[in-house]
Amino acid sequence: MSTYSRRTFIEQMGWGLGAAVTLPSLVSMTPERANVQDKQRLNIALCGLGRYANVLKGGLAASQYCRLAGIVTGTPAKAAEWQRAYGIPDKNSYTYQTFDQLSRNPDIDLVYITLPNGLHKEYVLRAAKAGKHVIVEKPMAFTEQDCREMIDACQKAGVQLAVGYRLHYDPHHIELKRLGQDKIFGQVRLMEASLGYRLEGISPDDWHLNKALAGGGPLMNLGVYCVQSGRYVLGEEPVAVTAQIGPVTMPALFKEVEENITWQLYFPSGAICTSSSTSNCNVDRFFASADEGYFELEPALSYGPFKGRTSRAAFNFPVVNQQAAQLDDIAQHILANKPLPVHISGEEGRKDMRVIEAIYRAAHTGRKITLA
Ligand code: NAD
Repeated sequence: MSTYSRRTFIEQMGWGLGAAVTLPSLVSMTPERANVQDKQRLNIALCGLGRYANVLKGGLAASQYCRLAGIVTGTPAKAAEWQRAYGIPDKNSYTYQTFDQLSRNPDIDLVYITLPNGLHKEYVLRAAKAGKHVIVEKPMAFTEQDCREMIDACQKAGVQLAVGYRLHYDPHHIELKRLGQDKIFGQVRLMEASLGYRLEGISPDDWHLNKALAGGGPLMNLGVYCVQSGRYVLGEEPVAVTAQIGPVTMPALFKEVEENITWQLYFPSGAICTSSSTSNCNVDRFFASADEGYFELEPALSYGPFKGRTSRAAFNFPVVNQQAAQLDDIAQHILANKPLPVHISGEEGRKDMRVIEAIYRAAHTGRKITLA
């Protein structure tokens, strides 16, 4: 945590610390808002106005091709505040009970779901049924089977489905992929990717500690980024997984979900990626060792700003507003009626969930789990 305060880190990752929201003071990579006609903007409704929705509103403000056009919330005071702040008319303000009436609203093109993890599947299915494109936050769902059902529902409804994988829009991660997949330092043999922070001040009632709403602990909420980075730096899918769960140092909080978990992914090339996700200490790093050198990022998986280094030199790219870049790319594809890029698709979320399920299975059985 040298260049990044722990409090900012925790707030930005959206876990647990009261109601305070710190919007990242990032400069958007998106060019200055051009004269994009309103009909060339995608009208987005945010569903679930919590911490990450507050981060996304900064991304929406900086985006060129999106407009915050609607909201879904169960809290009337929040509805009034957001409607006033963003000029959202009553007809575009929904509750969880009236959500399905979105089907009759041509002024909303896409619903962005920022609800607790356990509600992702239900609201993707409902958005698809309402005929709306949908972005769902990570983790996409709890199981690979859930992901399949979500993908199928969107396909049948003729709408596009994306997962909010913001890191694909950060130039440091684009560089990690190039260094790994193009074998700039030869074959990658070993990767380490970890993300966690020490949970302080969280209420025992917080949904992140509730299995039905969170699906798991830090693996579900943060570990998905570690799994992703290992997969996209190599461009391979793991063939086997081992994992170890524990220890529990805060038993009053961690009754239902894990507090600490470590795992190893084994890839067809022989490379391995070892990772930890934790609620007990702060860690945010990626490292890859290849035949002719190494490359690393630290911080690596949060909102940045990231710092990169290889065995030859430092690499630092401009700070980007990850959310604005992600939203603009999605909007441009949908407005042009083109399929969304594979790396942010529901299919990508399904692949991550397959690995996460295997990690939990390995941790709970103590066995090496093979992925067919
Ligand atoms: P949050 O608790 O701050 O917000 C969740 C919102 O859902 C709240 O407004 C809450 O009122 C509402 N809600 C509706 N039904 C609820 C219920 N039954 N129980 C609890 N809340 C309910 O959470 P958050 O940190 O904004 O996370 C929301 C989603 O966004 C999660 O899936 C999380 O993984 C994801 N997230 C992604 C990033 C990222 O960097 N991509 C960062 C943070 C969170």
